[in-house]
Amino acid sequence: MINWSTIDTVLLDMDGTLLDLHFDNYFWLHHLPKRYAESHSVELEQARKHIHEQIKNLEGTLQWYCLDHWSELMRLDVPALKHEVKHKIQIRPHAERFLQELRQLGKKLVLITNSHPAGLELKLQVTKIDRWLDIIISSHQFQSPKEDLRFWQQLQLEEPFDPERSVFIDDSPRILRSAEDYGVKHLVCITRPDSQKPAHDSSPFIGINDFDELLPLQNEGATWAKKH
Ligand SMILES: [Mg+2]
Repeated sequence: MINWSTIDTVLLDMDGTLLDLHFDNYFWLHHLPKRYAESHSVELEQARKHIHEQIKNLEGTLQWYCLDHWSELMRLDVPALKHEVKHKIQIRPHAERFLQELRQLGKKLVLITNSHPAGLELKLQVTKIDRWLDIIISSHQFQSPKEDLRFWQQLQLEEPFDPERSVFIDDSPRILRSAEDYGVKHLVCITRPDSQKPAHDSSPFIGINDFDELLPLQNEGATWAKKH
């Protein structure tokens, strides 16, 4: 699927790629509406509708991902509410093994996320995936989400990479298209980012359901299983 000898840099999304999107969907669709309804004494349905409308209005913008903006909009401490359900944060199947094998091969591992620094910090604290990563970048640092070409231009200035020898893995075809426009050659889409929901269409990108489909040392799988 990917010829790993042609790759130097692996760019990885976090939510829905390395981590199960179920946490985020649960938070935005269930937990936040519930706490909003309780705090502002409105019906749950009304809270859901209100939040859904705000989500639709901001989709694809950096504000959509900005927890400070959401805290203001909701008149609630959104990072604190995330802490309440942090037990739902999970690493996706075989993601750790995938990262470990890539490290073994000397690839540069760069996490690029639209997650707000507060949400990012919570997820790293719970999952400790940062131990496998070389660099962690939140698009908030660049004031442009990954959907925006300027994100990629700034990433190149901050952490030079050869787009021809890079692979980018994300669960959003819209974001993958933006990487494609910038010139990233190898693009992989996660087809089932939320373990509790059905798979989505990944076309025109290569789709994978599980990181075991991409393991570079797959043929040595039996040896790895014995050692761990
Ligand atoms: Mg994602």
